[in-house]
Amino acid sequence: DVLNTKGSEFEDFFLKRELLRGIYEKGFEKPSPIQEESIPIALQGRDILARAKNGTGKTAAFCIPTLERVDSSKPEIQALLLVPTRELALQTSQVCRELGKFLNLEVMVTFGGMPLKDDIMRLYNTVHIIVATPGRILDLANKGVAKLQACKILGMDEADKLLSQEFQPVIEQLIGLLPADRQIMLFSATFPVTVKQFKDKFLRKPYIVNLMSELTLKGISQFYAFVEERQKVHCLNTLFSKLQINQSIIFCNSVNRVELLAKKITELGYSCFYIHAKMLQNHRNRVFHDFRSGRCRNLVCSDLFTRGIDVQAVNVVINFDFPKNSETYLHRVGRSGRFGHLGLAINLITYDDRMNLFRIEQELSTEIKPIPSVIEKALY
Ligand code: ADP
Ligand code: MG
Repeated sequence: DVLNTKGSEFEDFFLKRELLRGIYEKGFEKPSPIQEESIPIALQGRDILARAKNGTGKTAAFCIPTLERVDSSKPEIQALLLVPTRELALQTSQVCRELGKFLNLEVMVTFGGMPLKDDIMRLYNTVHIIVATPGRILDLANKGVAKLQACKILGMDEADKLLSQEFQPVIEQLIGLLPADRQIMLFSATFPVTVKQFKDKFLRKPYIVNLMSELTLKGISQFYAFVEERQKVHCLNTLFSKLQINQSIIFCNSVNRVELLAKKITELGYSCFYIHAKMLQNHRNRVFHDFRSGRCRNLVCSDLFTRGIDVQAVNVVINFDFPKNSETYLHRVGRSGRFGHLGLAINLITYDDRMNLFRIEQELSTEIKPIPSVIEKALY
């Protein structure tokens, strides 16, 4: 379950009494799993990359250690919490103020679209923590108004968005303004390649918390088979004959390949539907509905079909084409094994896919094993 913890208490983190009081006053009784995992590490000043589902308490997971580590007796900006949108800036600053209500800290929020003059006035007075969107804070820093040389803590919420092309150059400039012994905390619900690249470039021995993949890949046995491109259909045919498929989803990387493969599978004598992004929505809906109601055993599809889809009868997912990134992999393979059911994921790997296979395995801290000659039915 998303909210299953190991049973930590907020007391276990040895926080300041005033902070503990703010936490309890906000109505938090016990840390959520992401808080339990990341707060003790963040309190040590270590870099963190944390990933957990929406609504699991990531905000407090970075606000609490920030509030603990900021020293109210020093009148300088000691922490910068970056978020991608104005609304999120407001919300995050509010959470920070509430949790830190008894700490005597000044939390400032700033984002584009508000008068710069007000921010400049505000910064004449003491500010300990700034919650901001990237462009605005860089602007204030470049004007010399926001001084970041003592800002040792950088928190980034919705990090995958903050590291999109739009923001990344700004983020890198901001990091250049921080002291050398800074701490970076990255929180995100998804983990695209950009986040990984950023992690490799800027984080130092980061502690990685990934509550997402554990959740979604739990109960799913994952295997790969090395094949040549032209052997793939033959290989699939063998899988169909050997596996006990309840229902399966088979993924291809392009719309064309979806249609072609569906035709091949039908020719081989297996029942099969297909669905892809270029089909009209109501047609897609009908196919999906029919698949869901069990009218057909196998569904070939492109990645449109991934996020959030829940068909409990699916016990096998086959990556006929291996995905390019771990996020896509997770979303595809997470289609089986829903709600504690077991599932099987089989990946057809060509020579060109090898590096991706190892990378995705590493990024998701999961294990994809070579396919054995017999797969026990007990696994799925
Ligand atoms: P996320 O950023 O992971 O999507 P949020 O930080 O927005 O999640 O938190 C989601 C909701 O859970 C908020 O309303 C927040 O107040 C609440 N919450 C967070 N941590 C706790 C906790 N330890 N106990 C009770 N409620 C919590
Ligand atoms: Mg959040």
